[in-house]
Amino acid sequence: MLEESATSQKRAAVSPPVVKVSPRGATRLKDGHVWVYRSDIVSADGVAPGSLVTVADHRGQILGSALYSSSSQIAVRLISREPVTDFLSLLPRRIADAIAYRGNLVRDTNAYRVIFSEADFLPGLIVDRYNDVLSVQILTQAMDEKTVRDTLIADLTNRLQPEAIVERVDPRVRQLEELPPRESGLLQGEKTSTVFNMNGVQFHFDALEGQKTGAFLDQRENYAAAAQYAHGDALDVFCYQGGFALHLAPRCSQVTGVDSSRPALEIADKNAALNHALPKEKEIEWIEANAFDLLKDYASSGRHYDTIVLDPPAFAKTKRDLDAALRGYKELNLRALKMLRPGGILITCSCSYHVGQADFMEMLAAAARDAHRVLRLLEVRGQAKDHPILLNVPETSYLKCVISHVS
Ligand code: SAH
Repeated sequence: MLEESATSQKRAAVSPPVVKVSPRGATRLKDGHVWVYRSDIVSADGVAPGSLVTVADHRGQILGSALYSSSSQIAVRLISREPVTDFLSLLPRRIADAIAYRGNLVRDTNAYRVIFSEADFLPGLIVDRYNDVLSVQILTQAMDEKTVRDTLIADLTNRLQPEAIVERVDPRVRQLEELPPRESGLLQGEKTSTVFNMNGVQFHFDALEGQKTGAFLDQRENYAAAAQYAHGDALDVFCYQGGFALHLAPRCSQVTGVDSSRPALEIADKNAALNHALPKEKEIEWIEANAFDLLKDYASSGRHYDTIVLDPPAFAKTKRDLDAALRGYKELNLRALKMLRPGGILITCSCSYHVGQADFMEMLAAAARDAHRVLRLLEVRGQAKDHPILLNVPETSYLKCVISHVS
């Protein structure tokens, strides 16, 4: 005990090294953003990878405290506009704030994002809760420090009492941050799979198997919104483990889910069994196919639906992909619109940050014109509230979900 407080005093007494940023970097921070790119760093001499730093402009005016990466193009990620001398004592406060924020806003689920990186002023850290299992992603040098990891695990355990905490590693991110390779695995406890529910629908979660994403928690509120309008014959394109399909099933006469991933569809089928003891003719049909080919075939063979969901993977990984991405979105939306019966419902999504809301709406309008259909917007939606959007950090807003009536 004595030793511990002596160490933390020592830690607190050392003031963090100063990183100087260019006028452009300083303006960015003053405008409310939290990142400074490497090209805007004037000096960071001798600053160790992952350090807590004080950020100053070229004249020495202090702009706040940040976590430093020696390798990422995003060299500085602000954690506070106030001076911070000890990140380890700030971390539990930030975790408490993130949990309190969700306390008022997250309903009807035991699966949600507990910590969303920059949007919770904990850049480089993502924590998702799936019922009694927490899934952690560590994305920066600073968050990978042993003392930070230990504090994080102890604090999350204490506050949320999970059965287990699992780390999901993205090897590419570790490479970019010049961190040693690491395997995904348990950080605490022994449980790696569980069942969670959202909006009254049950899902399997396996922390160490399946695709690396777990589930698409950011769509949670959109599932419930889509279910309100869904009817008749429904097609869920890019269905993954059945997020939309399972929400639509109680409202629709028939639901078909399409995905190119067989393992995802196998879990989708298990999820369906968890929820509905449906008569044979109402069972959800899962089809393994390339969505582009399948939509083309179905459209040309004259199939029709009353509800179609389009939730493709991010087509624009960088700004350069924007035009190609928009062409991809347009093709999908055009085909879906042609297949919808009058009075049909289109639920169309994009999770590409680089495709802005205006670009997406423009694409949809063009698809409607080409398909000779009239679209009435029912809801223009984004990511669930447990994935907060910081108004001055546009990169925190990425998901678009537009629900329209089609005649
Ligand atoms: N709607 C899902 C999330 C979809 S994520 C949910 O709410 O849970 C995107 C999905 O698209 C992934 O499951 C991936 O396997 C699938 N996918 C990617 N390319 C595809 C293609 N060309 N055809 C069909 N599915 C594809």
